[in-house]
Amino acid sequence: MKVTSAEFIKSAVDLFYYPDDSLPEVAFVGRSNVGKSSLINTLVNRKRLAKTSNTPGRTQLVNFFMINKSLSFVDLPGYGYAKVPVSVKRGWKAMVEGYLEGRENLRLVVMILDIRREPSGNDDQLIQWLRSNNIKIVFVLTKVDKFSRGQVNISRRKIGEHLGVSYDELVSFSAKTRYGKDELWRVIEGACSPDS
Ligand code: GDP
Repeated sequence: MKVTSAEFIKSAVDLFYYPDDSLPEVAFVGRSNVGKSSLINTLVNRKRLAKTSNTPGRTQLVNFFMINKSLSFVDLPGYGYAKVPVSVKRGWKAMVEGYLEGRENLRLVVMILDIRREPSGNDDQLIQWLRSNNIKIVFVLTKVDKFSRGQVNISRRKIGEHLGVSYDELVSFSAKTRYGKDELWRVIEGACSPDS
């Protein structure tokens, strides 16, 4: 997809403040520091549309962006940062599940995982929850530039087994080299097309 415009729309704490529109929507989830902001910025060719941060766990809002005036990207707060107090973790769950449950125009969740790690307990819980709510997921394994091609293949296979998906259902990605960008856009466009 050729991105001609990408605008920040708003940040919201709950349903009441979500933008009231019916554009097809794609949500991005992942543990803190996994590379979610970098992935969004790479997709839309911008340096700082989604805020990258060296303070994991900082973003605790649902951020909405409009892309090409034809679809929305939603940056959901990252999870799994150990230093966050329990009350904040509970708030996260309510906010993220509230969004995911209530959003009729949601077409796809992009679940971002680090190619170098087994999915965590938090990742597994969210995946299980998404599956039980019949929400379509694409799994993206990011930071592949940190691995050799052989290591990428081994890890992809392992993570695929862990998730119960085939090797081909995973998208390898790098925000550094932009590897996988076109493939991920194809998945997003497919999920957002009117007849999908
Ligand atoms: P977020 O907390 O999930 O939004 O993660 P960020 O996008 O802020 O990235 C966290 C850190 O990982 C930053 O230091 C990024 O520069 C780095 N990073 C993100 N994606 C990649 C990638 O594909 N390759 C490499 N080498 N580093 C990455």
